[in-house]
Formats: sequence, structure tokens, C-alpha cells
Amino acid sequence: MFKDRSYDVIVVGAGHAGSEAAAAAANLGSNVLLITMNMGTIAQMSCNPAMGGIAKGQIVREIDAMGGYSGIVSDKSAIQFRMLNRSKGPAMWSPRSQNDRVMFALEWRKMLEETPKVDFWQEMVTSIIVEGHKVTGVRTSLGIEIRAKTVILTSGTFLNGQIHIGEKSFGGGRTGEKAALGLTEDLVSYGFEAGRMKTGTPPRVDGRSLDYSKMEEQLGDEHPGRFSFLNGKRNLENQRSCHITYTNPAVHEILRDGFDRSPMFNDRIKGIGPRYCPSVEEKINRFADRDRHQIFVEPEGWNTVEVYVNGFSTSLPESVQYNALKKVVGFENVKFFRPGYAIEYDYFPPTQLNHSLETKILKNLFFAGQINGTTGYEEAAGQGLMAGINAHLNCEEKGPLVLGREQAYIGVLIDDLITKGTDEPYRMFTSRAEFRILLRQDNADERLTPISHELGLANEDRMRNLERKGNEKRSLRAFMDKSSISPAEINPLLISKESSPIKQKVKLSSLVLRPQLSIKDLQASHNKLSQVLMGLENESVEQAEIEIKYEGYILREKELVDKMNRLEAVQIDASLDYDRIKSLSMESRQKLMKVRPTTLGQASRISGVSPADISVLMVHLGR
Ligand code: FAD
Repeated sequence: MFKDRSYDVIVVGAGHAGSEAAAAAANLGSNVLLITMNMGTIAQMSCNPAMGGIAKGQIVREIDAMGGYSGIVSDKSAIQFRMLNRSKGPAMWSPRSQNDRVMFALEWRKMLEETPKVDFWQEMVTSIIVEGHKVTGVRTSLGIEIRAKTVILTSGTFLNGQIHIGEKSFGGGRTGEKAALGLTEDLVSYGFEAGRMKTGTPPRVDGRSLDYSKMEEQLGDEHPGRFSFLNGKRNLENQRSCHITYTNPAVHEILRDGFDRSPMFNDRIKGIGPRYCPSVEEKINRFADRDRHQIFVEPEGWNTVEVYVNGFSTSLPESVQYNALKKVVGFENVKFFRPGYAIEYDYFPPTQLNHSLETKILKNLFFAGQINGTTGYEEAAGQGLMAGINAHLNCEEKGPLVLGREQAYIGVLIDDLITKGTDEPYRMFTSRAEFRILLRQDNADERLTPISHELGLANEDRMRNLERKGNEKRSLRAFMDKSSISPAEINPLLISKESSPIKQKVKLSSLVLRPQLSIKDLQASHNKLSQVLMGLENESVEQAEIEIKYEGYILREKELVDKMNRLEAVQIDASLDYDRIKSLSMESRQKLMKVRPTTLGQASRISGVSPADISVLMVHLGR
């Protein structure tokens, strides 16, 4: 059946990583076959129906700036949009959307079906085909062999997946879906190291059974934004609210009574779970002094009564879940649609990968997403995009595209994974990036669209938008730098904002440096400014303001980037024999041999490699 077709890239798994990988490789010109176990669950949101959030929102913007689809799909299926952390500096602003779960998956499938070079096949891949040290295809559960120049594995939580609810435990990749069998053992037979992780999800309940009047309403933004930088996408006109309620001591008591039947506490679950997304039982166990924990009550879509109980992830027996939830304010008459559960699955420690996400052991084989020990749709999608790009470049016999830590959160993510590895589910935080003020959500297009356009992925529309935004921003900045305002014009506003009045004329840009003032605040006091602003897009104004307010910080980070790049510029030969550099510590030698960093910069980020070891390496490399 597949003998008469030739593929450049086979993508195994159509989750968030696989879908982005398939789209990117195909849009660059590769012939792609997307194989997945169930075509009805393409880009399924396994857990909460939401995209973005702190640091994750920046990743979605980056994917969009590169020409990926996650941002567009999120915008099309959003039911609520909020810019988180608005009260903090712009490095922390993070877009987040609540999404219609069904619409999200349907939009993804539609976009993939509209991508001409993507073919589909529904089946389980059970092994890879290897010739020499190269992967040349995959074998499926029906025994079909399909060949390709490259293979990308994006198996998510499915490899030997084991679901736990209380004392019950059964195989599955996600609720209602089979686990993927065979692939782990096959990869291990080629020398790959595998590990086990776990994650969990809360119950879904019937919104008609909840009393929202007892909860706090959480509205979307008054002027909702969007993820995609593409023009022509309308912002949300209507939005659905989320609600907030809390657990309480009565809830905790019922949950605690069920601990002896919890797979978390009776050692049945061996895999390590996400530290920053713990189950409710872990929360009340770990923070025993706290008498309440927040619960976000999130609608699952526009036209459904199903509700996601965010913050109540649990693998306790379903009756314990039910009895405890009934004690939550607003949930007194709750009806369950499905209980929460935990899942254990296989992953492959990501230090077995190069920066391109190609494996070190087998050529032409790439891993992306949760298989690399990450958690989250956004982290998966970002890796998928890069694996898709690099598999395509590999087919063209070109060098990989590697994003630096100063260029993108996606760069930080991949560098952290392959350099430091992870033994617990890795999620992105702004604190993982050393250049946060450069890696903002508002400038992802500026950072990445030109790179992707040169590659042939980001289209002309994206470049035109970027140029327009850049021109608007620069002309506004120039206007603010050269135009002044008098005390009579501005002092009433300054006094009303509790900012000190001025005694003589000042430039508009110097007023914007004051934390209480925005560019838009000034327009009522300065006619010409209000005329200039009329012709400009919101995003251009916002970015001009950020660049004025944070200029000092931005310059400082750029200097730090230059310093880091000096270390990054020192290449290390892949065959360097660290054992022969006797002045390196034993720990360093072992770590360096395992990771095999490609630059001195990367070597300096390996945990256990000290600054003294870096100096030794520098001397050895003739620096
Ligand atoms: P997935 O979205 O899991 O997709 C994997 C795809 O691969 C599926 O389409 C599957 O059918 C296919 N597949 C697998 N093996 C094979 C094979 N051998 N052959 C063919 N197809 C195959 N993330 C958070 O950020 N916070 C959370 O709280 C959270 N909780 C979660 C709770 C649960 C129960 C689950 C299941 C996931 C949770 N996640 C959470 C994780 C989030 O769903 C994943 O990080 C994300 O979906 C990973 O994307 P992925 O593309 O790597 O894999």
C-alpha cells in the first residue's frame, strides 16, 4: 500500500508536537505521513482546555511567529482571552486563552487536511526500521513497513501508558484510548535509555449542577488580544467566564481519609509527577498547614455544559473524589461526567538528543514533545515545530536550525532539555530564561519571523505585518522623542495620577518613563499625539511603549547576550576525549561525555560542570 509512495518525513503521533511537526515539514516542502492511533483525536487537549499562560503564552506566540499553527488554532477556538501578569513588567505578560476543546481539535485537523503535503494513516507504530545507524522507516501493528528519510516520534503519554483511579489500574494512553506498545522496548534494544513519569487530570462535571452564584466570576479581558500575529484574525467579541472557588478543611478531611487507597501514596505509582502541577492530594499532603486551595471552574466550550475542575487533579477512588468535591462551595449538588485519573508513561531522557532534536544514537530519528520528559501542549508544540523544521532540513542535507537562549523560549526549552536533562516533567517558566526582557510575547515576531521567512516557512504576509509594525513603532518613537509638552497641558493629568508635576517643557518619551503613565494616557493632553495614534495598530503602540520604558534593561540584557555569545562561539569537537583532560573533575568528565556539548557555552550550563572546569576547557581549547 505504501510501496508506491515515498516520504521525506514520517511523524508518529498527532498530538500537539506531532501536528506542528507535520505542518512545519510539509509547509517547507517535505512529503509527510502523519501516523496516529486515532484520527478522531488529532491535537486533542488531554487535560485542561486552555492554551498559553505564564511563559507558555510566549511559546505559542513564538510558534506563530515562525509560521506554526498553534496560535491560529487557539485564536479560532478561544472562548476567553486574558493577558496574565499585566500588573507586572512586560517580560512577565503572558497571553492565555480558554478554548473550546472540540473546536480546537477540529480546527487543527482542518488545517492539517488543508496542508497539501500531509498524508494520514491511522494505526499504531510498534517499531522503527534501522539500517546501519540510520532510521529508514517504521513498522505498524498490522505489520506494514513504511519508509521515509526521517522519522519523528511524538508519542506523548501513550508509551506503555498505565491509568490509575484509586485501586483500579489499566493500560491506556489517555482516558478511553489504548496505550502504545512495543516502541519503548524496540528503542531500548538500540541502546536508548527510557524512564517513567506520571501526570494527572481532574474530574469533569456537569455545569448545570453547579451554583455559580456562590463563586467568584473571572471575566475575560475587556479588550481581548490574540495569539496570532497574522492580520485579518478578529479578536473575540463574546467570551465565556470562568469561576473561582476553594477547597476547605471538610474537603481535605474526606480526601485524607482516602489516602490509603491512593496509588500516589501506596507506592503503586512509581513515575515522577509534575512538581508545579501537583494533584490535590499531593497539595494537601505537602502543604498541610493550608486550609484551602484555589479551584478554577472552567467551561469546556461554547455549547457544552461540561466543566473542567482546574486545581483538583486526582487519582483517588472516584467515590472519594465525588464526596470531597460535594463539600466545595458551589459544588454541593455536583454531578460527575468523568472522574480524574493519573497516568504513568515512558519517556526518553532528552540528553540523548542533539539541539536539532535528532537522537545521538540513531541518525534521521527525531523525538519531540512529552516523549522528551516535558509536560504541556505548548512545550510539546514548540518542540514539534523545531523537529519538523529540522527533519525537513535533514532531508535537504542542510544544517539544523537551532534557536539560541537569547532568541526564544523554544531555544531555552530545547537547550535545557538536551543539556541538563530532566527527571521530572519539565514545564516552562519565565525564570528559566536568562534574557526575559528580550524574550517577550509582544516581540516574538521581531525575533523569529525573519529567521523562519528565510527558511521558507513564515510567509510574505507575516513579513509585511512585521515591517508595518516596525515602521509604526519607529515613527511613534521618533515622534515621542522629538515632541514636547508644557506644564499647563500635562500637570492636571500628572496630579490626577499622583505623579509629580513638571516645571518646564519635557519630551513625551521622558514622561512615558514614569510607571503611572502610558502613551495613551498622554493623548488627551496632546492633540498631535492623539492624531498620530489614530492611524496606528494597538500592538505597535504597546511595543513602542515597552521599548521606551524598559530601554535600560533591554540594553543591559543585550550586553549579557554578547558575553554569552563569546562562550557560544567556542566550538567543541564532538570527538573530544574528556578523559584525557586530567585537570577536569571526575564529575565534569562524566557529564561532559554524556552530554557532549557542542559549544563552551553549552558546557557551562551542564549541572555539575563548574566555572573552574570551564576555565580548564578554555585553556585546553586554546582560549
Ligand atoms: P500527546 O498530546 O499525548 O499526543 C500523542 C499522540 O501520539 C496521540 O495522538 C497518540 O494517539 C499518538 N501516538 C502515541 N504513540 C503512538 C504510536 N506508537 N503510533 C501511533 N500514534 C501514537 N499538561 C500540562 O501542561 N498540565 C497538566 O496538568 C497536564 N495534565 C495531563 C493529564 C493527563 C491525564 C494527560 C494525558 C496529559 C496531561 N498533560 C498536562 C500533558 C499534555 O496533555 C501533554 O503535555 C501534551 O498533550 C503532550 O503533547 P504530545 O504531542 O507530546 O503528546
